[in-house]
Amino acid sequence: MLSDRARKIKPSPTLAIDSKAKAMKAAGEDVISFGVGEPDFDTPENIKEAAVKAMKDGFTKYTAVGGIDPLKDAIIDKLKADNGLSYKRDEIIASTGAKHSLYNVAQALYGPGDEVIIPAPYWVSYPDQVLLNDAVPVFVETFEADSFRVRAEALEERITAKTKALILNSPSNPTGMIYDRKTLQKIAELALKHNFYIVSDEIYEKLVYDGAEHISVASLGDEVKSKTLLINGLSKSHAMTGWRIGYTAGPAEIVKAMTNIQSQSTSNPTSITQKAAIEALRGPQDFVAAMRTEFDKRRRYLIEELNRIDGMSCLMPEGAFYAFPNTGKLYGKKAGERQIASSADLALYLLEEARVALVHGSAFGADNYIRLSYATSFEDIRRGVERIREAVGRLAA
Ligand SMILES: *Cc1c(COP(=O)(O)O)cnc(C)c1O
Repeated sequence: MLSDRARKIKPSPTLAIDSKAKAMKAAGEDVISFGVGEPDFDTPENIKEAAVKAMKDGFTKYTAVGGIDPLKDAIIDKLKADNGLSYKRDEIIASTGAKHSLYNVAQALYGPGDEVIIPAPYWVSYPDQVLLNDAVPVFVETFEADSFRVRAEALEERITAKTKALILNSPSNPTGMIYDRKTLQKIAELALKHNFYIVSDEIYEKLVYDGAEHISVASLGDEVKSKTLLINGLSKSHAMTGWRIGYTAGPAEIVKAMTNIQSQSTSNPTSITQKAAIEALRGPQDFVAAMRTEFDKRRRYLIEELNRIDGMSCLMPEGAFYAFPNTGKLYGKKAGERQIASSADLALYLLEEARVALVHGSAFGADNYIRLSYATSFEDIRRGVERIREAVGRLAA
């Protein structure tokens, strides 16, 4: 009955863990969640007020499909100021969240037989969006020893005549790692040499620590810019996950195709949200710095504590709000009769026995790891990590 397409797709595993944790909470259990992928901060007041004003002004009707010009201009100014990039209005499209932006790119670019290279660990939606468009995800493994940055040689091995695009995510969800200029340059060279697109998901751009620099691959030169679809949004930077607004900057021809696709599916992103997004982009930015400072504090604490747990080790993430500890040494151990053989076993064990929700690494294509979001209160991080330590301590060979 269902289409082949529908049968290929699984629900987002991060949302699945979250809903199980929520069900336990609803049943009265004291579950601490490291599962969520959204800031625990409230959307800043000035942004909410812009939305209220939009409603009161009656700005509640359909708008231009790809977003109103004042929003496109605010995005253009942001890309200039933050990334040194110049785009025109016909190279910008606003969509209903960055996930939707990525989906529009997939619809506009990928087709049957096309190969899309995805470095693993990867964000959960990338492979499924490729599959939904009858293309083939091609994974390339990255390693902790390289801070999970893809090696140019390993990437080159995966390139074929069918390679349509590479999906890059820096700072990365789930690893928290950032691509340096040198690696980006090598990737850009390969994209030009082999003529494929770079889909650059930069949603965590504003969350970088220790003075690290976010570099957009599109800023490395006009040639690579013409092969880059730059994706960004306000969900993570301005705590606006529920508002659903994201955007793409890229070649006019592709943006036009995305706009046509959007015109036949969702039409414009919410009118009220567009007004709020203009305020987010143009208004005061001190909220972003304050949120980053708080995340940074939690990051240092959490990673230090995870590294104190026997059998776990965790790189210091450079950006985003996730810890991605290596838990491979725990596999094969037992709690009573219960054997932990994988990241999924470990995540389920920790949820049921420690009442801590987190995501198994296999969801991101890396079974030797688990992902903990530190977008949760310092107090919960402190209590949660204690529970993990205690539960892991009960595992025996
Ligand atoms: C959260 C997230 C997105 C999607 O954000 P939207 O809420 O759809 O704007 C895209 N990519 C990554 C890696 C994310 O973590």
